[in-house]
Amino acid sequence: MDWSKNQIKEFQQDLLSWYDDNKKPLPWRKTTEPYKIWISEIMSQQTQVETVMPYYERFMKKYPTIETLAQADDAELLKLWEGLGYYSRARNLKIAAQEVVDKYNGKFPDNLADILSLKGIGPYTAAAIASISFGLAEPAIDGNLMRVTSRLFELDCDISKSSSRKIFDGYLRKLISKKRPGDFNQALMDLGSLVCSPKSPKCEACPLLNYCAAAASGKQLNYPVKTKKIKQKDLYFTAFALENSLGEYYLEKRPSKGLLADMWTFPLTELPAADFEKMITDGSVSKNIVIPELPESISKMEYIANFTHIFSHQKWNLAIIKLKPEETFEVADELLSEDKMWVHFDSKVLTENGQPKVSRSQIPLAGPQVKMFEILDKKNKKIDLLK
Ligand code: SF4
Repeated sequence: MDWSKNQIKEFQQDLLSWYDDNKKPLPWRKTTEPYKIWISEIMSQQTQVETVMPYYERFMKKYPTIETLAQADDAELLKLWEGLGYYSRARNLKIAAQEVVDKYNGKFPDNLADILSLKGIGPYTAAAIASISFGLAEPAIDGNLMRVTSRLFELDCDISKSSSRKIFDGYLRKLISKKRPGDFNQALMDLGSLVCSPKSPKCEACPLLNYCAAAASGKQLNYPVKTKKIKQKDLYFTAFALENSLGEYYLEKRPSKGLLADMWTFPLTELPAADFEKMITDGSVSKNIVIPELPESISKMEYIANFTHIFSHQKWNLAIIKLKPEETFEVADELLSEDKMWVHFDSKVLTENGQPKVSRSQIPLAGPQVKMFEILDKKNKKIDLLK
């Protein structure tokens, strides 16, 4: 990079004054408190800020301090996270909060190495906290920063390769404002999402136009260079919506390790792609499906709907099947446990002993399960209207 000191200074001024006038009004921008910056950064990974905002507000209300998070009840924490996806983020938050309480006496560490050592915090998040909360000149390199930088300098390095990070780091370390490093990082993030967007950069409105090599050559869309994404693996599942005579649904808790750990879903059975395709095409429920809770009752089931749920490495294709309206389903008592239970829709319903029954609003539902309840709710409403 052959920019003079003056050029770098002017670049910083142009970028920061644009930021002062145009920054996104996000709730966590009213503070530099490391705990709040950390939570907002973890929530914003893989998730749109508009989606994050209500979650952030609820989270701060429930866990206003690092100590409260360190003592959080696991199920309540997951419930609060429901719908944000990537649930390991929530689990790691609690583990890291416990680390801060135990190792740093509840005070968030103020140097990059210690921040990076906390569970679930990678180089981007560590740099974001270090720069915003502690004024350290650490570039927080995310997709936005890589896109803008690759266009500014027409960098051909592949952003999907981890080795490219060093190259971006080298450029951004020379550019970052030592006086306002946190604002510098956030300015590039906002510029990347509001102005220098992936498909239609608004160069005429960009404060960096005079510095930008790709805009000068008209090759903005050639950058960043990125090799094709690995395709997610397709998996096929039948989801059993088993309802009893009280209108409760039978849900299972997933194992405590792996995808959607400890979240609740309808019983799921994986099936071959061909059986799945046949079911969603002609509505026939495959005889090959085995439901341990319902040994020989497959003929009583009917196909309801299908949808897909995308994870980072897997694509789940789910077909919901349900007992035919004239059928009811009862589970033998010995099959019910802490990991398998009846879940009601209404939190005010009581058991025969006067205890509140478990409602679906009390337990953390897996992402696909939230969607399945939405589908069933819509179907049930339509049926009600026909009555
Ligand atoms: S001038 Fe255009 S391509 Fe260059 S940084 Fe600005 S918006 Fe992006």
